[in-house]
Amino acid sequence: MDEILGQVLRSAVWERLDMLTELANRADAPSLLSVARSELPRLTEGWRAMLAAHEPDERGNCPVCSGRWRQQKAPCSVWRAAYEHLVAGGLAPQHTARRRPESGGRRSRRLAAGAR
Ligand SMILES: [Zn+2]
Repeated sequence: MDEILGQVLRSAVWERLDMLTELANRADAPSLLSVARSELPRLTEGWRAMLAAHEPDERGNCPVCSGRWRQQKAPCSVWRAAYEHLVAGGLAPQHTARRRPESGGRRSRRLAAGAR
């Protein structure tokens, strides 16, 4: 995948996540219910696909996060993020608020890269 295509892909994903956050914060109850029914299964499937790729191999290393010279012991950062967001954070709304500065940073990088 070339650099431009990778940038377009990443921007599209960040924008989708921004849109879902916006909906969660502002949509009325019937709209929110409709969005939850369509988007929650997509999000859970996305997590499943990502986590399946990061399942540890027979030596207990993540095959995706390991490099040729350095093995990444499981759980890798993807599994730790999944645990933090899905289990420890319990999908609580205050968790989203705590993440604001980071998402601002992402937006700045995106703008700096000229992706918008
Ligand atoms: Zn991994």
